[in-house]
Amino acid sequence: MAEDCLFCKILKGEIPSTEVYSDENYYAFRDINPGAPTHVLVIPRRHIARVSDASGGDAEVLGGLMLVGNAVAKLDGLTDYRLVVNCGPQAGQSVFHVHLHVLGGRDLAWPPG
Ligand code: 5GP
Ligand code: ZN
Repeated sequence: MAEDCLFCKILKGEIPSTEVYSDENYYAFRDINPGAPTHVLVIPRRHIARVSDASGGDAEVLGGLMLVGNAVAKLDGLTDYRLVVNCGPQAGQSVFHVHLHVLGGRDLAWPPG
């Protein structure tokens, strides 16, 4: 847990969120500013600031993140969806606790902006 991390505060229940999925290693909740009918954020309970900080020891936690993304999409009845990780401000990362965006429920343009 990192003291000043918004998503660690969500994990601790200090900031409310709408839960979609939870287990001992991950938590998934609806994005406060959804960009699509389904816009869920999946976070590892372990604080990693950005995906570029990950190393070999994080392989399992990062692999599992994708699997939880699949599970969340299924819970929302999606077969087609996008899983996104932004790394760094220029790529659009605004919260520095690794999170997987699960987006779907409408046609999604490519490439993103
Ligand atoms: P990023 O831009 O870092 O890839 O994604 C951060 C996401 O967190 C954004 O889509 C933003 O809307 C979402 N977000 C920021 N603050 C909160 C919050 O307090 N609650 C929830 N549920 N989502 C948040
Ligand atoms: Zn954190």
